[in-house]
Amino acid sequence: MAQEDTFKKIVSHCKEYGFVFPSSDIYDGLAAVYDYGQNGVELKNNIKQYWWQSMVLLHENIVGIDSAIFMHPTIWKASGHVDAFNDPLIDNRDSKKRYRADVLIEDQLAKYDEKIDKEVAKARKRFGESFDEAMFRQTNPRVLENVQKRDALHARFEKALNDNDLAEIKQIILDEGIVCPISGTRNWTDVRQFNLMFKTEMGSTAEGASTIYLRPETAQGIFVNYLNVQKTGRMKIPFGIAQIGKAFRNEIVARQFIFRMREFEQMEMQFFVRPGTELEWFKRWKETRMAWHLALGFGAENYRFHDHEKLAHYANAASDVEFRMPFGFKEVEGIHSRTNFDLSQHEKYSGRQIKYFDPETNESYTPYVIETSIGVDRMFLSVMCHSYQEEQLENGETRVVLRLPAALAPVKLAVLPLVKKDGLPEKAREIMDELKFHFNCKYEEKDTIGKRYRRMDAIGTPYCITVDHDTLTDKCVTLRDRDTMQQQRVAISDLRGLIEDKVSITSLLKKLQ
Ligand code: ATP
Repeated sequence: MAQEDTFKKIVSHCKEYGFVFPSSDIYDGLAAVYDYGQNGVELKNNIKQYWWQSMVLLHENIVGIDSAIFMHPTIWKASGHVDAFNDPLIDNRDSKKRYRADVLIEDQLAKYDEKIDKEVAKARKRFGESFDEAMFRQTNPRVLENVQKRDALHARFEKALNDNDLAEIKQIILDEGIVCPISGTRNWTDVRQFNLMFKTEMGSTAEGASTIYLRPETAQGIFVNYLNVQKTGRMKIPFGIAQIGKAFRNEIVARQFIFRMREFEQMEMQFFVRPGTELEWFKRWKETRMAWHLALGFGAENYRFHDHEKLAHYANAASDVEFRMPFGFKEVEGIHSRTNFDLSQHEKYSGRQIKYFDPETNESYTPYVIETSIGVDRMFLSVMCHSYQEEQLENGETRVVLRLPAALAPVKLAVLPLVKKDGLPEKAREIMDELKFHFNCKYEEKDTIGKRYRRMDAIGTPYCITVDHDTLTDKCVTLRDRDTMQQQRVAISDLRGLIEDKVSITSLLKKLQ
């Protein structure tokens, strides 16, 4: 199945099974805003718990906070967001569609890579076993031509970005012959900068309302609480502050479902270190974060690091964790070495001293910061994309199964009486009433067992138990495994022990030790 079709199916599956709904659905939706349904909220909460516990439980020197979305407007001046949190936009005059100019060029770069990969794939097919890929890449004229074009474009694009040269960005789009995917024309406007922050007003007009911003990242809430937490928590450097919360960006182009939203959620951790040690910590946090992703078992081949060519104004190193989505490798997390930029700026703009006295070196300094920043929604999307599978069964039927990591699954156990009579529902409820304190269980008695299994497969429930007539006498149930579909007879008294460990967040956290 084409990757695009798979993605469409995942989007409709999310809606059909109560994971993600378009916001304001009965009013035909609101662009790039989504709601999480009854299963989505559970999966999302499990992702957040996995992250939070991996930070705050597993590290003695990381604590959490929950800062407000509204903040003093000067914070965004100090952080550079008022002046520089921009994306370059360009319009096509014929289709009236708006694009991010940098993304149009990035897509063009990806096209050269695709052409190269196609040549390699064709040659592999032609030469079979004897194919020497490295040699082919070094010598094939068509590959070399595309490599040369890609590298030249890359260098030109990087320079234009670093020089903030909007005219040159437009020229690149024209020279590369990039057309609007809707109108197919090259009738482009000039490139303009567009600030992504949403504004609103606080206070009534009579009092003199002031403009405030909806935060575009949660990080600043951590920076402005650095002193509060360090002092009240008696924190010693190195230490970290973690936070999960909503962020808002008026994205120019909102495509690809929950990949790019205007209201989304971030999980960010700022780690404060002694100046000069930041690049060592940057490396360690890259490893720690990659291990967190890999523990989910989606396979190392589906992740890669992408080091930034253009560093943000505050950073001295930056790398993204990219995941293989159906539409290519895409960023899910950013790891940034933010220097002492933010704390120094807040010191300057607030007039408050923000320093740390290091008892080990007897010095006062402004700490340097390593940030790890991951979008909950993008993480959710990567989990969904990897878990969604259509499987051909031996009997010729197909089943849709969400192979979610058990610890993230919304429902851990379905309790199913075989029939709606003979005391089986009562027995099933009795089992459920015992187990519901330990993990999320769902009771279902409608439809055939086969149909109920399929519904549970479709929402990723790792285990189902069936209560049948024998259960009443032998105190055993049939336990079915989502992935293997194998069934075994187990004693009711063993159920908790068999399941709890496998479906708990702790099972994931233990892989990180
Ligand atoms: P992009 O280049 O895709 O716009 P970014 O580099 O601006 O992302 P950061 O500012 O580093 O992203 O934000 C950290 C994380 O927050 C990202 O890795 C992503 O997971 C998430 N994120 C950022 N913007 C959005 C958005 N509009 N919708 C959903 N998640 C987002």
